Amino acid sequence: MPSISSNKPYRVGRSRTGLGLFATQPIKKGTRIIRYFGPLLDSKKKDEDAIENKYLFELTNRWTIDGSIRENVARYINHACRPNAESDVKPRKRKVFIRAIKNIEPGEEINYDYGTDYFKAYLKPIGCKCDACEKKRKKKRAEARAERARLKAKEEKKAQRKAEKRAEKKAKAREEVRAKGTTASKAKKANGKAKRLNGHRLVV
Ligand SMILES: [Zn+2]
Repeated sequence: MPSISSNKPYRVGRSRTGLGLFATQPIKKGTRIIRYFGPLLDSKKKDEDAIENKYLFELTNRWTIDGSIRENVARYINHACRPNAESDVKPRKRKVFIRAIKNIEPGEEINYDYGTDYFKAYLKPIGCKCDACEKKRKKKRAEARAERARLKAKEEKKAQRKAEKRAEKKAKAREEVRAKGTTASKAKKANGKAKRLNGHRLVV
């Protein structure tokens, strides 16, 4: 890891996605934090145009900074969709500075928006891990959870209603059987009486 003198307002540290750059002192909005630098690649030179890595910073159609060198501490700065810094590009000077666009507190990670091309090529396929995107994902997960719970409650209510209806039907059926049984036994008893009476009459 490159040595960083302590008068710098940042340090390299562990972040969600690996390493990142963190403020060690309050950084005021508008402050140039660090320069993003490296060899300049000329797209007109075939061998230079063929270089491909994650740290290329396109200045103009012709010039690109290859920021993959160790000395370029700014390469540790992670992308964020709602960043606290931005890249301040000076195409004619062929220089890039990272500048605070918010007041940054000590301990806060410094980020800037890498831009649409980088996002599409490297972040979208694996899912952006920046705070804003994580928050969005968390919210979506919570919403999905709530929806699942709502559906489950609905199913349970439905099942309960069904069970209640079934129980009601059973009770009714039992009632009917009981009622029929009573009538049948009454009829039987009445029959028996009649027979006895008949018998009596026969005897008399
Ligand atoms: Zn994001």
